[in-house]
Amino acid sequence: MINTFRSKGPQKIFHWALSNGLAMYPTNFKPELATVAPITLFPTPLPETAFQDAIDVQTVYNALYANIAQNKNGWLAEETEKLASSDPDFTGRLWSLYKRAKQHGICQNLSLGVFRSDYLINADDNQIKQVEFNTVSVSFGGLSTKVGELHDYLNKSGSYTDNGDAFYDQDIPISQSAELLADGLAEAIGQYQSADTNKKPIVAFIVQNGERNVFDQSVLSINLLTKHNIKSVRLTIHEIHSATRLDSNNNRLFLKSSGQEIGLVYFRAGYSPSDFVSEQDWENRLTLEVSYAIKAPNLLTQLSGTKKIQQLLTNPTTLRKFLPNDDSLSLLVPTFVKIYPLDFSELGEVGRKLAFEEPENFVLKPQREGGGNNIYKKDIPGFLESIGQDEWNAYILMELINPKPTEENVVIKGQELFSVPISSELGIFGTVLFDEDKIYSNNQAGWLLRSKFNTSNEGGVAAGFGCVDSIILY
Ligand code: ADP
Ligand code: MG
Ligand code: MG
Repeated sequence: MINTFRSKGPQKIFHWALSNGLAMYPTNFKPELATVAPITLFPTPLPETAFQDAIDVQTVYNALYANIAQNKNGWLAEETEKLASSDPDFTGRLWSLYKRAKQHGICQNLSLGVFRSDYLINADDNQIKQVEFNTVSVSFGGLSTKVGELHDYLNKSGSYTDNGDAFYDQDIPISQSAELLADGLAEAIGQYQSADTNKKPIVAFIVQNGERNVFDQSVLSINLLTKHNIKSVRLTIHEIHSATRLDSNNNRLFLKSSGQEIGLVYFRAGYSPSDFVSEQDWENRLTLEVSYAIKAPNLLTQLSGTKKIQQLLTNPTTLRKFLPNDDSLSLLVPTFVKIYPLDFSELGEVGRKLAFEEPENFVLKPQREGGGNNIYKKDIPGFLESIGQDEWNAYILMELINPKPTEENVVIKGQELFSVPISSELGIFGTVLFDEDKIYSNNQAGWLLRSKFNTSNEGGVAAGFGCVDSIILY
């Protein structure tokens, strides 16, 4: 098939991609050079049972993390307080912002979770195993839909074969994430009480300076407008104090230029310390937190997604506090692998021993997002020795998942095609709207398959390690 493609030329892909916004800015960010996003040429086969398990457990995961973020018995606060002291640069800063917001008074009780639970499929038994649960700035819901549409188009237009017939005898499943995530944002706007009930509030996308993955985000903002008649604006965290105004009487947030009221602040930035370049940026994050606008996510929801919380949830007693329902537990628990702390608890003793005695079975993770932060296998002991033991509590030690044998595919990066074995990570999106007491809506919101060259430990697309794929079920 690849030879057919080489001879026909990949132009068809480029034409479709640029006609439909399956695009990304290049690494040497030049806006005029936007090109096709890194993608695979073919969909990747996945076992249907594993895929269905991941879909079925998503609303359980949404509810679990909403329950944690409600902080009802103060568990999240207690654990985050401990974590803050071993990771002062990021968890600590977010935590102290939350405490200041609380002192000021938090007037918006609603929070929107836009989540993505990521899995690898275990080689031995085809079971899904969770890599991580993301609670802030989850990406690729827009492009995931587009890549499924592209693959379906290539198949139906006969581009995969010499004789112009379809290669796959079934439609290629298309993730509805581009619509469903926009529906989730719209649901929050629907619950927001505007100062002027005749005017619809807008959504502020908080984005990074120099963001390459703009088109993934604009798919959502376009769907917000066309499907829900909701306008949106793109702002960086650096310009909140100059571009917005917080009404000191009622904490409502307005866009200065137009006077429009911001009903939802949707974070596609703020997940990494490098997103905050000055003290003003931290103050801007605080302004957003204390504003009456709904946050996706608010600070507690973002902090419920640390790797540390993921580790703590592998304790059955802890988990049961937030998810007492046996049916829910029976869907969720099989997705866990072993995760150890490296602190001075009993389990921490085991973790510290394993880190030095059999590092080849583990990955060491700090409290960071966005890819490129983990330490793998034989690098773990040296790394731990290089930092102080007082910092070890900021890391978790996670059993390596051994994913399914790799599939041959073709990776398209810029103008180049690479015929390589790949391995894939499945992500399921979810949206959940909740306040301190109640969950108002809880939905599964489509999927994402990211694939990477086999040689790379990590699969971040924007970080340059991976690409967006689609699925075919068997
Ligand atoms: P981040 O929040 O930076 O995305 P992840 O926990 O997703 O951090 O880890 C990044 C990547 O590392 C994953 O996409 C996956 O490729 C690899 N990885 C993480 N945990 C495991 C694991 N337990 N087994 C195998 N690979 C893993
Ligand atoms: Mg993550
Ligand atoms: Mg990840």
